[in-house]
Amino acid sequence: MKYRSTRSNETVTAEEALVKGLADDGGLYVPEFLPVPFLHADELKDMTYEELAAFVLSHFLTDIPEEELKKLTHSAYTGTFETKDIVPVKPLSQAFSMAEMFHGRTCAFKDLALSLFPYLLVYAKKEEKDDQEILILTATSGDTGKAALEGFRDVPGVHIMVFYPSHGVSPLQKDQMQKQLGSNVKVVGIEGNFDDAQGTLKQVFGSSLRKEEAEKGVLFSSANSINIGRLLPQVVYYVWIWLKLLKNGSIGEHESFNVVVPTGNFGNILAAWLAKQVGAPIGRLICASNENKVLADFFETGVYDINRPFYMTEAPSMDILISSNFERFLYYLTGSAEQVRESMDRLKKEGKYEVSKEAFAKADMEMMGGWASPEDMAHAMSEVYENYNYLMDPHTAVAYAVYDHLRREGEIPRHSHTVIISTAHPYKFPGVVAKALGLKETESPYDTLREITDKTGIPVPKQLGELENRPKRFTETVDRKDMADTIRSYADEICGSSH
Ligand SMILES: *Cc1c(COP(=O)(O)O)cnc(C)c1O
Repeated sequence: MKYRSTRSNETVTAEEALVKGLADDGGLYVPEFLPVPFLHADELKDMTYEELAAFVLSHFLTDIPEEELKKLTHSAYTGTFETKDIVPVKPLSQAFSMAEMFHGRTCAFKDLALSLFPYLLVYAKKEEKDDQEILILTATSGDTGKAALEGFRDVPGVHIMVFYPSHGVSPLQKDQMQKQLGSNVKVVGIEGNFDDAQGTLKQVFGSSLRKEEAEKGVLFSSANSINIGRLLPQVVYYVWIWLKLLKNGSIGEHESFNVVVPTGNFGNILAAWLAKQVGAPIGRLICASNENKVLADFFETGVYDINRPFYMTEAPSMDILISSNFERFLYYLTGSAEQVRESMDRLKKEGKYEVSKEAFAKADMEMMGGWASPEDMAHAMSEVYENYNYLMDPHTAVAYAVYDHLRREGEIPRHSHTVIISTAHPYKFPGVVAKALGLKETESPYDTLREITDKTGIPVPKQLGELENRPKRFTETVDRKDMADTIRSYADEICGSSH
């Protein structure tokens, strides 16, 4: 199967798409055709996560033999998750379950894709007979950076550089990145938000710097969810969740389930949509936003408009106005690369665009939007803890709040089952979690965690606890306008040391 750009007829192999990340025209790669639905529960129900991953991916990455994919998924998911189940699905009532995606190396759902992506990339690079060094450039709103750093740490032939908003992440997330181990990693804070970081990186991808460095032997690639190597592994867990719901008896053989996804860059929910296209019986697909509710407004009006204030919230991975993967959805809605290019030009110039009536009607059929205020989020956290003895992180709490609101409004079919996608371990955000539990936040986030443990009995995951006494390695912060220079000097360092 070939991949094509959302903005032109540029078409490449899957391997090229994996290595390049972003198309030359600035578009994102999408499968040229969606596979014919291929999911049958009977065939899948006894598979392990890694087997299921190889099976699902073999329909999207048809150039890679399934036997090879099995080796890659085996490496990715062996010993990298705390739970044998990889993604446990916990029913909290007849009406809803929590799909816990935070049992990987960095306690966020990004681990699901970023445990596998490096293996896919290295495989693709070998197939392409590419002997250049790869430099992965990553913008993060908090969780991608750490998950990518862990995924790529000490992978031969690959280097990784992460930019995070220096004032926009939790103290624990900052520690996770500043204290990163590995000889091929670099972490830089920026004075700006995630949109600034992602926007500047996209410019770098389209600039002469990329060509200059390629000539010197360093190829830029991306670990953001603009890369299909991030997106496709996420399709797998929606199939997994379906099979788990069947096993748990939460749904019957011919029943569908709803999914609520706390959304930022639109990668996770797009993966759910793809899973539905290939046969996962997903009913309502609900896109949950926080106060930065560009998407919720889009699903209401058909206008994508970023001319608005930017809020820094307690759910920082959703503090995004330009959701990159929405471009892929727009491509499917309009079926036209030309229209996508036009809309993206308009977004750049005017900060907004409107889709056609037909495209909006389609969007409305495919997904629902909703949003939650900081108060709704905090209330959801306390309430679910009291009622179900279950502790959610702030992103999951936004999703729950949106679900609860829609349920009360009668927008969710009665007797249907809903899965809340739980994207991060609550202990990544000690301050806000402590507050929701009626505890006081202490100066050290690690002390706060110990207090939360005393109250809830939930142990501190080793991946977080071990950071406390580790030295900081990366404390540099740059202005966004200096990002390109920072990249140049790191890339030059790489050429210097590899020749
Ligand atoms: C990345 C992230 C999100 C948003 O996911 P997208 O795929 O960017 O929409 C939500 N919650 C957490 C905890 C995240 O790390």
